[in-house]
Amino acid sequence: MRRYVFAGNWKMNKTVSEAVALARALREGLEKEPTPHEVVVMPPFTALAEVGKALKGSPIVMGAQNMHWEREGAFTGEISPAMLRDVGCAYVILGHSERRHIFDETDERLSKKSRAAFDNGLIPMVCVGETLAERESNRTLEVVERQVERALRPLKPEEVARMVVSYEPVWAIGTGRVATPDQAEEVQAFLRKRIAISHGDDAAEAVRILYGGSVNPGNTPGIMIQADVDGVLVGGASLKAESFLGIVQYRQEENS
Ligand code: PEP
Repeated sequence: MRRYVFAGNWKMNKTVSEAVALARALREGLEKEPTPHEVVVMPPFTALAEVGKALKGSPIVMGAQNMHWEREGAFTGEISPAMLRDVGCAYVILGHSERRHIFDETDERLSKKSRAAFDNGLIPMVCVGETLAERESNRTLEVVERQVERALRPLKPEEVARMVVSYEPVWAIGTGRVATPDQAEEVQAFLRKRIAISHGDDAAEAVRILYGGSVNPGNTPGIMIQADVDGVLVGGASLKAESFLGIVQYRQEENS
């Protein structure tokens, strides 16, 4: 059986007590109905330490939503990879479209961050995706190719094999407009081929490629059945235990 990744990006939502309550509800839900798949939550920075404690000893792993590439120093307002490890993070999202488009994240910085993630014991979850204008001008594959090439350039094949890439069309994030399963598969199969060229067949086969963009319990089965979809990155629907558990409790055997 394939082991999928279900990741919840809480974005700039939840106070510490709200985040801990959600983490506890997810933990209880998975204790009642365990899943063989990997479940990851990405709370805001302020809640990481407490959520880390609330999840200790559970199968749910934790990630952060961004980081700086340096270990420490004069970078006011930034959080380092070592700090994320210290509070129990295993993953870090890099290059989310909100960071690229609202906070001017560049491919160059992303490549420093992906290197720094592995150097500090974190697994990067690198997001790529085209805007609506880029899709409408048939530039989707060119855009995601550039993004994935730059972010993975400093990584060794054995590192790529352990990481996660998430295809998140910008026009599908938080809009309720989900990509069709065929649209997701076209891009994700392309990404896997591109990674085979840059890092070899073994890395391309092992790298987990997620889809993200308006995923909910109802549209999950259609997306998950695609050959190159290894899981989903969920924003809005990860903010309530019931809807995230509805996605996480996906049953591959009932979907073929
Ligand atoms: C995301 O934040 O990565 C995301 C996919 O958001 P949403 O599920 O809300 O579209």
